[in-house]
Amino acid sequence: MLYNHKEIEEAVSRDWEKEKIPEKVTEFKKENKFYLLDGPPYVNDKPHVGHVRTATSKDIWGKFKKMQGFNVWFQPGFDCGGLPIENKVEKKLNIREKSDILKIGIEKFIEECNKFAVGNEKAWLSLYKKLGIWRAYLKPYLTSDNYYKESGWWAIKKFYEKNLLVKGEKPNFWCPKCETVLSGYEVTDAYRDIASPSVFVKFKIKDRDEFLLVWTTTPWTLPANVALCVHPDEKYVKVEVDGEKIILAKKRLELLEELNKKYRIIEEFEGKKLEGLQYEPLLDIPLQRELKGKAHKVVMSIKIIKKRVAGKIKAKKKVEEEEEAGHLVDISSGTGIIHIAPGHGLEDFKLGEFYNLPSPSPVDENGKLDESTGIFHGKKVEEANNEIINYLREKNLLFYSTTIIHSYPLCWRCKTPLIYRKSSQWFLKLEPIRDKILKEIEAVRWLPEHIKEQFIEVVKNAPDWAITRQRFWGIPLPIWKCEKCGKIKVIGSRKELKENSIEEIDENFDILTSVVDKIHLKCECNGIMSREKAILDVWFDSGIAPFASLGYPFKNKELFESLYPVDLVDEGQDQIRGWFYTLMVCGIVLFDKAPYKTVCCNGWVLDEKGEKMSKSVGNVVRGEDAYRELGADLLRLYITQFNAPWETGKFSIKEAKTLQNKLNILLNLVSFVESYSKEKYKFGSEFEIKDICDKWLVSRINSLIDEVADDYENFRFHYAARKILDFIVNEFSRIYIKLIRDEIDESRLKLMLYVLERIIKMLAPIAPFITDFIYRKFSDSSVHLSSWPKVERDKIDKNLEDRVKLAREIANAINSERQRCGVKLRFPIKKAVVYGLRDMEKKVEEVREIIKILSNLIDIEFRESKDIAVKPNFARIGKKYRQRAQEVANLISKLKLEDIKDKFKIGDFELEREDVIIKCVKGSLFSGGYVVLDLEEDEKLKKERFLRELIREIQKTRKEEGLKVLDNIILFLENKEFAREFEERLKKEVRASKIVYELKNEKGAVSYKELSLKFGFERSEQI
Ligand SMILES: [Zn+2]
Ligand SMILES: [Zn+2]
Repeated sequence: MLYNHKEIEEAVSRDWEKEKIPEKVTEFKKENKFYLLDGPPYVNDKPHVGHVRTATSKDIWGKFKKMQGFNVWFQPGFDCGGLPIENKVEKKLNIREKSDILKIGIEKFIEECNKFAVGNEKAWLSLYKKLGIWRAYLKPYLTSDNYYKESGWWAIKKFYEKNLLVKGEKPNFWCPKCETVLSGYEVTDAYRDIASPSVFVKFKIKDRDEFLLVWTTTPWTLPANVALCVHPDEKYVKVEVDGEKIILAKKRLELLEELNKKYRIIEEFEGKKLEGLQYEPLLDIPLQRELKGKAHKVVMSIKIIKKRVAGKIKAKKKVEEEEEAGHLVDISSGTGIIHIAPGHGLEDFKLGEFYNLPSPSPVDENGKLDESTGIFHGKKVEEANNEIINYLREKNLLFYSTTIIHSYPLCWRCKTPLIYRKSSQWFLKLEPIRDKILKEIEAVRWLPEHIKEQFIEVVKNAPDWAITRQRFWGIPLPIWKCEKCGKIKVIGSRKELKENSIEEIDENFDILTSVVDKIHLKCECNGIMSREKAILDVWFDSGIAPFASLGYPFKNKELFESLYPVDLVDEGQDQIRGWFYTLMVCGIVLFDKAPYKTVCCNGWVLDEKGEKMSKSVGNVVRGEDAYRELGADLLRLYITQFNAPWETGKFSIKEAKTLQNKLNILLNLVSFVESYSKEKYKFGSEFEIKDICDKWLVSRINSLIDEVADDYENFRFHYAARKILDFIVNEFSRIYIKLIRDEIDESRLKLMLYVLERIIKMLAPIAPFITDFIYRKFSDSSVHLSSWPKVERDKIDKNLEDRVKLAREIANAINSERQRCGVKLRFPIKKAVVYGLRDMEKKVEEVREIIKILSNLIDIEFRESKDIAVKPNFARIGKKYRQRAQEVANLISKLKLEDIKDKFKIGDFELEREDVIIKCVKGSLFSGGYVVLDLEEDEKLKKERFLRELIREIQKTRKEEGLKVLDNIILFLENKEFAREFEERLKKEVRASKIVYELKNEKGAVSYKELSLKFGFERSEQI
């Protein structure tokens, strides 16, 4: 039977629908709960194979836990709020700037957003369904639902009551197109190489004809300059260049050399000598005039914690390396003197706080310079860069200017280069809860373990969380402020807003900015309170999912209390600083403990060449397309086994298809059982264990159940999948079937069903369709309603498993020796001699029949080893022992085979098996010795080989003629004397009720060397 995913999936889906299997599996009961929380993907993206990987991973968890007897919470979720949707709507309505939104009206804009947000989840759910993912069958939570947003209001009120919510002004990344602030974690993954000006500027020292040389790549921040900063302990020099006196760091003199400028050192001194030195404002603009007396001095660099995203934007990689405390002034680049604009950089802001400097940020929401910049007013950042450079050139304050390409952060949604500007936001204070989070991290299980360290780093470095955005589509910030006295009121529910509102409103109003902005409250002072115009960060929306998805505390209170905390979340690795982080923060603030017990992280999926999938390159593999090519089971199986779930994987349809063969082998095993069965057997039938082949297979399957359960439990899904496939292909099909092929009876078929039942159950979480398809052949129910198989420990014989493992190894050595000598596996060989240590003799004796069958031997013999050479593996010991390598090598050369263990000692050297190379003078090696073949073909062997060829050919023809395995034939052979010698064996092997030595019904001919025979047959009614 060949694997045909369409047929199988259609048949199984019909059964599921008819028997309501998904509904039965996902029915939730509170006892023995397993809260699997779906991290909501952005609903307006089309799922690609990376999403398929995460979705499959989560589904494997759910199916496995369900089989273990847990009541799993399978609800899916979708993120429907925030900028991603707004950007789509802007494109559709041709909106260029935020002010355009106000022109068309917020109501209309919101209505369009709603259209985009709701309904897109159907495409996801439909793919989930095709992939056999249980979540597909449940009503999803949408972050744009009213009940969801109301839970968000409740949370914000709690934040406020706990004194963690504050309004503040801080510089932050800002998208001038979206006109909103962005958080650090929204920025770190969206860097691109772009061109920026690289400008060397001369700041004139007050009352002296000397200049401080400063480098910047953001001239547009110069109007906000308040200070210059130098390193107190580094050497600085005053030099004469082009007839002017210029100061810069001594180490940066190479800059002048690079520019081919001749210079003469006049003076050398330490940076501290410059402390307090006053300079003249660089630009003659209102803001700089206003700063006089409060700014324009040289200050000393301080040590600060250099954050992942530095104020002066640097290449991403470099920033990561510098994530430790260091001096603000970095003497390895620029001029060693930096320009400080606390309103445009986080590090500058910190330095400004330290020296109590003003922090102007004269850039508006659109990224245009404001009135205080005089002649530069109204210019966008790029324009301002050019105009400022021209201005400096005219005033002879420009030393040198060029362009550099560097890595720069872009808006993750609209790809506009970001700026750093100060804005007024609501922040969630981190400091009061940071230690508590760090403590709770310990109580969580992190898979793989190393993500815990990454998470700790994120928490340690996290600034206060700017939770507001200056946008429209999202959870409206539920804070009202008095226009008269400035008093604040935070609203925690719709009911509370209705009770406090001046306007008459329905309690079930929609929680939309367009609606709530029309609602006002009355202040104690009799003033009118209006809403603070902001929405909440989308990462807040998803961070509240554990309770907001249930509408807690307004509904499902009991359900939530029985479910919480979440048992497991499993998402992409970018969520370490995204969702996992905001979940944790919300969990700690609101419920005072970690919101989840286990966190798993999935790696990226790259294209088949190992390139990142991206829309612009056009190498994105959509989930739908991969499904169409491969079908659900093959796609799920491939993506599960190709490497560890947490590692980056390459996705190749071609490679995925090669796995199909393994599913064919599984189906062949099923056909094998079916074709030999005289009646319809069911799982659970009694059988007898007749010989070591049976005993071994039953032992192996029981051992495997243990191993695979442990792999699933520890997120080693790739091992689980590979072990199951290896068992099907190698142990069950290649070895067991080969060993028992000639002696199949009812008990053996039932034994095979015992094994098959367990294999199917173990594979069911990964490949839900094909497993149910097979399961239903031998059962009246679905595999997905069955339990994880119990291990029958009394059936495990580890010794026997080891011995058969040895037999496999020896057989592999024999077969590679065959290949070397050019003797095909289908020709029996007279004898193989196994050389090994004395104690191996008994082990080989026990499995000699198995080796004989696996290697197609007439005879096997054991002899004690000789002709073995043990040699040093120089590639390893050279590295390990360096100068003493030769000494170790000499010792290794004296070793005998029996001295070599997995780990062993010679002298004071600890060695491993891989440190030595074992070579045999003849034959092929296995771990305990080597094998040599006796290839002589005598008369008897020649006839045997002929017989095997004849059997093969008759079997093949039987099949081609459409005969069933259990059908009998009457065999007609040419009347040749030698043919009569193997009459009995031939009858048995080809199921001939009799042989007639007279050619009739000719079907074919066989020849080997000088032997040849024509044959024919007809179906016999005789049994
Ligand atoms: Zn943007
Ligand atoms: Zn008031």
